[in-house]
Amino acid sequence: MILPDSVVRLAKESGTRPEPVCFFAYDLDALRAHVTRLTALLPDRCHMFYAMKANSQAPVLEALAPLVAGFEVASGGEVAKARAVDSDIPVIFGGPAKTEQEIAQALDAGVTRLHVESELELHRVSAIATEKGRDCDILLRVNLRGPFPSATLAMAGRPTQFGIDESALPSAVKLAKDAPGIRLIGFHLHSLSNSLSSPAHLEMLDLYRRKVEGWEREFDITCEVLNVGGGIGINYGDLDAQFEWEQFTEGLGALVADTFPEHWREIDFECGRFLTAACGYYATEILDVKTNHQTTYLIVRGGTHQFRLPSSWQHSHPFTLVETDSWHLPTPRPETYREPVTVVGELCTPKDVLARDVPVERARPGDVLVFTHAGAYGWEISHHDFLSHPHPEHHYLP
Ligand SMILES: *Cc1c(COP(=O)(O)O)cnc(C)c1O
Repeated sequence: MILPDSVVRLAKESGTRPEPVCFFAYDLDALRAHVTRLTALLPDRCHMFYAMKANSQAPVLEALAPLVAGFEVASGGEVAKARAVDSDIPVIFGGPAKTEQEIAQALDAGVTRLHVESELELHRVSAIATEKGRDCDILLRVNLRGPFPSATLAMAGRPTQFGIDESALPSAVKLAKDAPGIRLIGFHLHSLSNSLSSPAHLEMLDLYRRKVEGWEREFDITCEVLNVGGGIGINYGDLDAQFEWEQFTEGLGALVADTFPEHWREIDFECGRFLTAACGYYATEILDVKTNHQTTYLIVRGGTHQFRLPSSWQHSHPFTLVETDSWHLPTPRPETYREPVTVVGELCTPKDVLARDVPVERARPGDVLVFTHAGAYGWEISHHDFLSHPHPEHHYLP
């Protein structure tokens, strides 16, 4: 994997500074180019929102705001982050645990619509909107029966806390139609995460279409907006075999034009990982190299308390090794040569593993490992202060 020059330059500072190298870098130019290309391929009626839980750092949101249809948020804190970056950008608000305070805050902040996940939440939204003398546009989030194409995480088609069980939909729709302060304008169907197959994803959207057409007939309602969620994946195991976005959007164009009723005015995507993963790099300096029980370990500054994704998904995260000349001890510099290595962090737990059994040409203390595709669910999902090590630097490359 070819790294940006500026990331290599920062990595090569190893040995020239008091602390070992440890940083996140976000290539904002690459992010803008990537998202511009993705959204340009979207067919008519299709909109790309950014699910900011993947990475809600202000420079990332600022880079994305002009390029996406809006932000998808899942907490009052994210509503505030969206508004801090842009006072007008459309914001759509989902998540299974909205408090009354968050619902009120969302309405005051001019959120475009709420994705409602239960009947009790319908009552809450109705009461708060009515009190404010407002009408709130909502989508009902449905947890479909499935089965779904395979992906790393499934939010529907099996028991989860998300959405309204498909079998409970008749009563939820009736309530949504009758409750004051609420306008039911469609459905929300985010069913999986890290989907890697464009044909399988299209098939799922076709299933969504059949479901929603059926509900329109069954409940005598008109869907205006269909939110098909996020979940477009990144292939961390084989970087050359990524989700075929071009092929997907071609199929999507035909699917929407030929089969989606015209009154479905808006088809929303709300992707996180697929937008920001590739722009991020996590660089860690090797502190020690050792072999225990026939396994060779590279022990690095940092670890899963800063970059929890590989441990959370139980995968081996891809990295590129940057050799450096950093060595100042009088003893010979140890090295491992053409051996598979397991990369672990500085935490006192055997679970602090970033990559396992990866062949490398040569690795030495002072060299720097740069984990790529670290821009989504990296720093954001990590438990930063476990063991009280210093935090990594955050660099935003212009
Ligand atoms: C997390 C989440 C997303 C984004 O998921 P990605 O896999 O990052 O695309 C979108 N919608 C909802 C409701 C989510 O919870």
